[in-house]
Amino acid sequence: MVSRITFNAKAPVMPVIDSHIHLDFDLFDAKRDILMLHMQRLGLVHAVIPGVSAAHWAKQRAVAKQYDCSYALGIHPWYCDEQWPSDIVQLEQLLIKNKQDKRLVAIGECGLDGGYRDTWDMQIHCFEAQLSLAQRFDLPVIIHSVKAHNEVLHLLKRYPLNKAGVIHGFYGSTQLAQQYLDCGMKLGIGHLLLNKTAKKLRESIVNLPLASLVVETDLALALQQEKPDVDDNISESNLMLHLLIAEIAMLQKKSRVLVSEQVFRNTLQLFDL
Ligand SMILES: [Zn+2]
Repeated sequence: MVSRITFNAKAPVMPVIDSHIHLDFDLFDAKRDILMLHMQRLGLVHAVIPGVSAAHWAKQRAVAKQYDCSYALGIHPWYCDEQWPSDIVQLEQLLIKNKQDKRLVAIGECGLDGGYRDTWDMQIHCFEAQLSLAQRFDLPVIIHSVKAHNEVLHLLKRYPLNKAGVIHGFYGSTQLAQQYLDCGMKLGIGHLLLNKTAKKLRESIVNLPLASLVVETDLALALQQEKPDVDDNISESNLMLHLLIAEIAMLQKKSRVLVSEQVFRNTLQLFDL
């Protein structure tokens, strides 16, 4: 399939795709136009908006349409509560209804967060239900995996996916990364790579195949806790994708153009864009 999104190496700024941006969040309501304009000037040609809860899905789809982005539908482990069985039914109905929607590219973000012990059992059931939907609708998954790698790997083996997916915001050793790659997953690399003390991740990037990496801002979930000021958040994120590409290029001793182009292609392939 020929993608409508192309990499133009001669563009004034290197084209980039944000594989994970919560552009639908209310905190961007007054700033969304300017944010997208800035990011597009800096080379953003496409973005994927992951889902977090049933309450977000309608707005998410509207924002994706308005800004010509793709989206995923799912239940994030932080948003998993007693409602999850009815949310899954709603998710299933939306998937059936929007099967032909080209913007709908994945299930997620879903997964497990060991920091949220109170809801752990519900998280497991809810994640399993989403993996099962990904199998049935033949979609990749966007996975949030924090303090839960063993369980996530176990479930990925139990629910093998044709289109696999991405471990977003990956942080871990080469060995852990390899286990995910063995399941066919890609790794979403975000702002943690820019932290010079993130030694484990920086070492992994040196060792991993470039074909396994995509880049992401994770705007706004990751940053809003540290920097509640939306303007700070936005100005940092504008540049983040290029900083990530430059850092990967430096660690892998490759040119920025080569890394940009490969990461771009990885993202097209991951989401079938
Ligand atoms: Zn996210």
